[in-house]
Amino acid sequence: MNRIYFDHAATTPLDKRVSKAMRDFELKYFGNPSSVHREGQQARAEIDFGRAAVAKFLNAKPQEIIFTSGATEANNHAIKGIVSKAIFEWGMKPHVITTELEHHSVYNVVKEMEKRGVIEATFIKPTPDGQISADQIIKEIKDNTVLVSCIFVSNEIGSVLPVREIGKHLSSINSRLSTSHKIAFHTDAVQAAKFYNCNVEKLGCDLLTLSAHKLYGPKGIGTLYIKTGTKIDNLMSGGAQEYDMRPGTQNTAGIIGMAKALELLGSLEEREKSAKKIRNLRDELWDQIKNIPGVELNGPIGESRNPENLSITISDIDQDSLITAMDLAGFAVSTGSACVSGSSEPSHVIKALGKAASKTVSTVRFTLGQATTKQEIDIVIKKFPEIINKLRKYNK
Ligand code: PMP
Repeated sequence: MNRIYFDHAATTPLDKRVSKAMRDFELKYFGNPSSVHREGQQARAEIDFGRAAVAKFLNAKPQEIIFTSGATEANNHAIKGIVSKAIFEWGMKPHVITTELEHHSVYNVVKEMEKRGVIEATFIKPTPDGQISADQIIKEIKDNTVLVSCIFVSNEIGSVLPVREIGKHLSSINSRLSTSHKIAFHTDAVQAAKFYNCNVEKLGCDLLTLSAHKLYGPKGIGTLYIKTGTKIDNLMSGGAQEYDMRPGTQNTAGIIGMAKALELLGSLEEREKSAKKIRNLRDELWDQIKNIPGVELNGPIGESRNPENLSITISDIDQDSLITAMDLAGFAVSTGSACVSGSSEPSHVIKALGKAASKTVSTVRFTLGQATTKQEIDIVIKKFPEIINKLRKYNK
């Protein structure tokens, strides 16, 4: 049976050209990039080239790019690093603003620090259709606010947040604050990079997170952009790699793969073209399944929704049975974040929309990709209602 992959927000298939670039690199340059001999320096030169490519994608300086093991580490570094530095420099309890739409690698970090009494935290609630305005965030700023961390595009429900507007407000607020106290602005752009402009200057952010495996690149490599002058501590101690900010021998092949994956995404115009094609297919899918009784869209419609995402809630269906039935029928779909798969509890994001938390309400997320075809959409349009009907009959 041919499989149909609708889980590109969880991870994307590795592009063959990325795989080749990594393999070629690994075979040719095995040296440790921190070694002073030629083998080391050759590897170092290649990762510098990769760093420059990531910097170009973000319109940043190469020395502002720190390679990490992925977005989870980058998000932890951004939040814990800013909080730790603020506590050290001021000695007061810092306040962090984030949203209820964050990925667990932001949401759980802030929740945990709040629970331990390390920080005060404000979680901004979305509207029932999954939107958050810049004003909602700015309104919560207090004298001890040190960080705003706001996801760019929701991995679960596809909301696109007004990151640029938030950045603009924050830079105006920061220009009135003393140089010893600035509010850092972090955005998790993991799900945004495929389609949206991640120019850090335009976004007005101090910290930005990327992960290669969401962009047809390899797993285990990510980036934290740290704007020059940002007051931030390290997450780990050790060697002097990554400008003294992230110790440990670099994942050299991963860096080459990440740089290649970003290069292959193309210019903003090319990314917008790809977004249009994917959006049309996604809209066709939604048009055909929205009339199934008990089906409801999660998240916004129109321009403020990620083109690849279709997240829906369905009544009178057990979630695990639905995902399993879809899998058996050949479709890879998910309930939301893959990071909590195995849990049939609705996620904090779905709960934040005020959706009923019940055993008979399911969430299904379809996320389309570069290789999704009209034929695949036609197949799921035919099969999905059949699967729903069958499961509902069993449940009766
Ligand atoms: N942030 C977002 C928005 C994500 O979608 C993910 C992956 N689900 C992560 C962070 C974590 O990424 P990684 O797997 O690279 O740790």
